[in-house]
Amino acid sequence: MEKNQESIEIVNVDQLKAVKREDKGYVVIKDTVRNTLRRPGCENVNVVHFWEKVLDNGRKDGNYFRVDTVETARTLFKAKFCDNCQ
Ligand SMILES: [Zn+2]
Repeated sequence: MEKNQESIEIVNVDQLKAVKREDKGYVVIKDTVRNTLRRPGCENVNVVHFWEKVLDNGRKDGNYFRVDTVETARTLFKAKFCDNCQ
């Protein structure tokens, strides 16, 4: 693994808001079905979804990560781009 390929798990709403505000890199949403790569500004990267999935469900159904590059998302998560974010 390349040294610069890193992911940071997003564990609370403040962190998610900061990622969206900064609007750099990408967000990987892990899921039981697939892992999806999205831009921070994607409508599917939002506090309500995050709250339901991560906080209410205790990450059983998935969780969120911030990554720097598409390459990292593909290598670490085999994530596929959101249709609206490509
Ligand atoms: Zn999207």
